[in-house]
Amino acid sequence: MDERKIPYKIYLEENEMPKNWYNLRADMKNKPAPLVNPGTGKPLTAEELSPIFCEELVAQELDDTNPFIEIPEEIRDFYKMYRPSPLVRAYCLEKKLQTPAKIYYKFEGNNTSGSHKLNSAIAQAYYAKKQGLKGVTTETGAGQWGTALSMACSYFDLDCKVYMVKVSYEQKPFRREVMRTYGASVVPSPSETTEIGKKILAEHPGTTGSLGCAISEAVEVATKNPGYRYVLGSVLNQVLLHQSVIGLETKAALDKYDIHPDIIIGCAGGGSNLGGLIAPFMGEKLKGNADYRIVAVEPASCPSFTRGTFAYDFCDTGMICPLAKMYTLGSSFIPSANHAGGLRFHGMSTTLSQLYHDGYMEAVSVEQTSVFEAAEQFARVEGILPAPESSHAIRVAIDEALKCKETGEEKTIVFGLTGTGYFDLVAYEKYNNGEMSDVIPTDEDIAASIAKLPKVE
Ligand SMILES: *Cc1c(COP(=O)(O)O)cnc(C)c1O
Repeated sequence: MDERKIPYKIYLEENEMPKNWYNLRADMKNKPAPLVNPGTGKPLTAEELSPIFCEELVAQELDDTNPFIEIPEEIRDFYKMYRPSPLVRAYCLEKKLQTPAKIYYKFEGNNTSGSHKLNSAIAQAYYAKKQGLKGVTTETGAGQWGTALSMACSYFDLDCKVYMVKVSYEQKPFRREVMRTYGASVVPSPSETTEIGKKILAEHPGTTGSLGCAISEAVEVATKNPGYRYVLGSVLNQVLLHQSVIGLETKAALDKYDIHPDIIIGCAGGGSNLGGLIAPFMGEKLKGNADYRIVAVEPASCPSFTRGTFAYDFCDTGMICPLAKMYTLGSSFIPSANHAGGLRFHGMSTTLSQLYHDGYMEAVSVEQTSVFEAAEQFARVEGILPAPESSHAIRVAIDEALKCKETGEEKTIVFGLTGTGYFDLVAYEKYNNGEMSDVIPTDEDIAASIAKLPKVE
């Protein structure tokens, strides 16, 4: 096809949007290992999961046989407010880099929450409403997930209680106010509203909280209040399923112009955007119908894939959540302060962990100063101010494009641009002032938390 005919933005029509999510697990020969009850050491059943999660979401969580799951019409209608999202040909970046590579990015920052998280938030809110629940609880760190969920809950008229890590609540008032504007109640965690919060406050007066502690509070409130369930914004299979809308749209847009990507790149925190972006491509790869290089990018300060261990571990620091078999740094691993808050999880999606273990994908870790350098380069030519998380993928896309410049290869690179960075300007300020550093854990740091992994099997 004549190059010039490919537009800057490839949009799909509304009627070309996917009507089904794609459940990649159905096409995996080696299925991801099941979630395990830490009390019994046995795989969790739907019965055990349903006091915590909505019924339909439990079914999706446990379903590793149905490849397609219909996207209910109400969710598709909501998606239409901000989807299909554009697949952008980064002509300006290519020119700036003087690379023969062709670079595309799928931009998920075109909604008020500013990230892909809304794709799953709206689905989870829908199933909660359908079940007749009063509301949902969740935790949020920097606030991207809480923001997405509060938007979804206001749409379906559900109560939304967000436990926000206290330090973020105090230092990042902007996302907090977006959440409150959408009607969510935002509680700084730890709080006096839960037993676990009171206990933590008694033991550690003045603590500024942690994600693990906020999860524990949100789960406690969901299980103690009739009509409430807990929802989570990443890691779980159900979240990867909902995020497959990213990959399905990307594939449809590429197919329109007969474009075959060589490399697909995404940042990986808990794995949901990457799992969603790669889903249909990985499906073809698993069936032997096509081949792609698939690359996960993680921060050097929290390198689950590249330096972690493939083992059962707790999903939370509070050690109350189920055990998942994944690449993990250990649930007691505390990553150093890093400006990509959404990538600071110690573990990784079980689905992506299994695929990585079986050699279907690669992973690289990058340091945050080089990430912000890439963010700046991208912002200056492509116009979008990228989220620090997304900029991990930009870094590796640029690196791959520069390799093509050396070899003269015209590779096609696709990466996921998960969101915008307007709430991350303190991080940009640090970078602009030359005050940003890279803190990389030592082997001893990682070995110490790995030594505390629970014994399973
Ligand atoms: C949360 C977040 C991520 C990381 O989460 P995944 O579940 O790994 O996708 C990446 N980018 C942005 C903008 C986020 O908000």
